[in-house]
Amino acid sequence: MRRAPKASIDPDLRKSWLRRAYPLVKAHRALLLSSLVLSFAGLIVQVQIPDVVRRGIDDAIVARTASLTTYVWWIAGLAVAQGVINFLARLYLLRTAYEIEYDLRNIVYAHLARMPFGFYDRVQSGELMSRSSSDIRAVQMYLSFGPSILVQCTIALVAFVLMLTINVPLAIVAMATMPIIGLLGVGMRKAIHPVSWLIQSRLARLATVVDENIQGVRIVKSFAAEGRQLDALAESADRIRWAYLRDAKIRSRWNPLLDNLPRLGLALVLLVGGIMVIGGHATVGTIVAFNSYVLMLQPPFRMLGMIIMMGQRASASAGRIYEILDTGSEVVDPPSAAPPPPLTGLKTEPDPVDAGLRGDVRFEGVRFAYPNGTPALDGLDLTIEAGETVAVVGATGSGKSTLGRLLARFYDVTGGRVTIAGHDVRSLRLSSLRSQVGIVPDEPFLFSLSIHDNIAYGRPDATRSDVVAAATAAGADEFVVDLPDGYDTVVGERGYTLSGGQRQRIAIARALLLDPPVLVLDDATSAIDVEVEQQIHAGLQTAMRGRTTLIVAHRLSTIALASRVVLVDRGRVVATGTHEDLLATEPRYGRVLAAAPAGLGFSALGEASAAGSSTAPEGLGFSALGEASAAGSSTA
Ligand code: ADP
Repeated sequence: MRRAPKASIDPDLRKSWLRRAYPLVKAHRALLLSSLVLSFAGLIVQVQIPDVVRRGIDDAIVARTASLTTYVWWIAGLAVAQGVINFLARLYLLRTAYEIEYDLRNIVYAHLARMPFGFYDRVQSGELMSRSSSDIRAVQMYLSFGPSILVQCTIALVAFVLMLTINVPLAIVAMATMPIIGLLGVGMRKAIHPVSWLIQSRLARLATVVDENIQGVRIVKSFAAEGRQLDALAESADRIRWAYLRDAKIRSRWNPLLDNLPRLGLALVLLVGGIMVIGGHATVGTIVAFNSYVLMLQPPFRMLGMIIMMGQRASASAGRIYEILDTGSEVVDPPSAAPPPPLTGLKTEPDPVDAGLRGDVRFEGVRFAYPNGTPALDGLDLTIEAGETVAVVGATGSGKSTLGRLLARFYDVTGGRVTIAGHDVRSLRLSSLRSQVGIVPDEPFLFSLSIHDNIAYGRPDATRSDVVAAATAAGADEFVVDLPDGYDTVVGERGYTLSGGQRQRIAIARALLLDPPVLVLDDATSAIDVEVEQQIHAGLQTAMRGRTTLIVAHRLSTIALASRVVLVDRGRVVATGTHEDLLATEPRYGRVLAAAPAGLGFSALGEASAAGSSTAPEGLGFSALGEASAAGSSTA
């Protein structure tokens, strides 16, 4: 089950990124502190070992005043202790890291899920995916591993103090090269940093190209554009190669320096220590111990550079994550959202004038422009009586699909208001509003789940018989039972293993399962053969019974499903009436129908109506009209 994140990001924009992220660390501070304390303890044990070696050499081997095995046992014991402590420290650190990552991921995803549609109109999905994975990782790394690396750097201090107690001049000699290693480490990271940025952004770009290629593979293939796409890929890959080669060049310039400086340190310890031993001012064991210290100390100094780079990367990543988190959700629940008004109860109502049909839908002087500024509706007035089915007809871009999006409050109106059963949609809780308004989009999205789960998407607890009933009503059952695993057949990604008409019917079933009193159907714009169309329409007729339905009609046969037609032009309703009325009185209606693309039924209209409807050619949708409207009126 999903566990809510233990903390959130501090919303105070004036604070630094680290201060804003602090609550995340604080929520897991017990774990992180345990890990840091343990790792410090491990370091204390670790720096003892060279000292025991020194005493073993000096006392047991050179002076022969003590037993050698005692020291051997000591070292073995310390090593085991260090192993156990390091195991625990590492375990706790990784747990902290993944707990922080889990919280951050959930914070980001929860926010993304609340983002308004306008946000998704703007951003690129590839970019979002990269933000939600690599950026989260970068911040997590710094928040958890940063403190741990700092603790490891304290080993230098502890070891230095220990060395000072053994031999002051030699301690200074042993430490002499460390600051240089530290500086070199920082220098190398500084040189590499811009290149690693370049690599990151170029990898993201490549991911976008690959993503588009895979998502758009049907288009790529249908235009035989594989060659062009490969060229684009090759160019992206080439840019990445170039950046990696630069990275390699910088590394191969700095790494030998960084690797060999410690050897210079060893040589210095041998020189100065050797002279001191010869002069009787130091012991042989001291030289051996200091050798170990020199080797032990250089990794933390090298890591100093890494910390700085991790910090820079985390800061940039945090900036991008905060950009998402700081974008507020525009469509929000009203402060005291009303519970869902009782619009439901339609399915079982035998009498159409009974209480269940009260959910009338009104658009009152609605103005709307999309977040990018594109105007869509310009003072539109439309009332759909409870239980009525209205077809909205208009030229492409006239604002038809926008109506459904405003009704379900994917966007908020810029002016006027949209009401259901007298309630402004903005006064309702989003979740209840959306359970009252069923939407069948023109290009339904199916998840790579079973057919059952796709239909039950809005009501995961639905039983198989509920699902079958919805599918039957939508005219989907007949093809589903023929699939290899019936309702358990898993559809390919986005449902590409199904035909357009089949996907449409699954989407209708999905909407019907919620039994919404208000239904919005966006007619598929793609051509579907007449037989499938009739099946869908048969399903739709059952679906619409007793519901307030708005159909965005792209084809003549769909218009026939409605009792009233509304003609929309440039974001306004310009005429309303029955199909026949409009044909007779409104020249613009005829023009819109005639302008519809061939194969979608409208284009046949001009000829057909001129020739008399009874002679309309079969298969162009017009003949379906007669039957459908006949069937429609009998059920109305
Ligand atoms: P129709 O369904 O009649 O073809 P729409 O309601 O989809 O028209 O669109 C109305 C206008 O809004 C058009 O100019 C269209 O380009 C624009 N539009 C539609 N969707 C978006 C969107 N997500 N972002 C910006 N503009 C949009």
